[in-house]
Amino acid sequence: MHRFFVHKGNISEEEIIIDHVEDVKHIVKVLRLSKDDIIEVCDGENQEYIAKLSIVDKTQVKATILEKKESQTEAQICVTLFQGIPKSTKMDLIIQKCTELGINKITPVVTERTIVQLKDKKAEEKKIDRWQKIADTAAKQCKRGVIPKIDMPLHYRELLECISQYDLVIVAYEEEQDLGIKSILQASKKSKKIAIVVGPEGGFEKEEVEGLKEVGAKSVTLGPRILRTETAGFVALGIVMYEIGDLGGK
Ligand code: SAH
Repeated sequence: MHRFFVHKGNISEEEIIIDHVEDVKHIVKVLRLSKDDIIEVCDGENQEYIAKLSIVDKTQVKATILEKKESQTEAQICVTLFQGIPKSTKMDLIIQKCTELGINKITPVVTERTIVQLKDKKAEEKKIDRWQKIADTAAKQCKRGVIPKIDMPLHYRELLECISQYDLVIVAYEEEQDLGIKSILQASKKSKKIAIVVGPEGGFEKEEVEGLKEVGAKSVTLGPRILRTETAGFVALGIVMYEIGDLGGK
């Protein structure tokens, strides 16, 4: 069944209006769907609908809701990735892969060793817009029920202030010898809101990791090899999802 993300505001009790130009074009010209065809719609906030097309024309598509259900593809936990901003297009890969693995939010972070300079607010917004589109596309492809949000970048100091909102904060640190995600999760099974913090290419300053630990974060190893920054986030997320039973079956 073909699936579309539709903004909540376009979904009423009985009817769904699809007016996003790309989706309309896709339905009408590419898929050539017509009246009475059945589609699946998701509001991007975990609610899904089975609906029957009632009007299909070049500017607007309407569908009648047949069934409403909660999405089956979301994990039982909410994970945010705080990612030290990497160079070039590495963030694209990070966003795409973390979306597939079930991330809830990605917040780029400027740390001591971040090389990339975001010129001004406008350039920042443009970048976030582009990254959000990557998350939208990936969420659609892997049938997510929630579209991960790409937040505006934070500075390390702001990160320290906002981590108190989380039940558990994990900092991936290559200098950490023993402590791993497995034992931390086993000791705090009730954690529902989890943050993963990954440094940029040059890693974290020791003081940055210490600062995070002082406000309650736990630093973990991801194994004996040094992973690239673009690998570390989705490896950590993969381990978390595996441990809570969201990846890899029984
Ligand atoms: N400073 C290091 C590499 C940094 S790798 C160096 O150049 O030698 C970039 C980020 O990936 C790190 O900040 C860390 O968050 C994460 N990372 C990479 N390998 C890791 C490992 N084995 N264990 C934990 N975190 C790791």
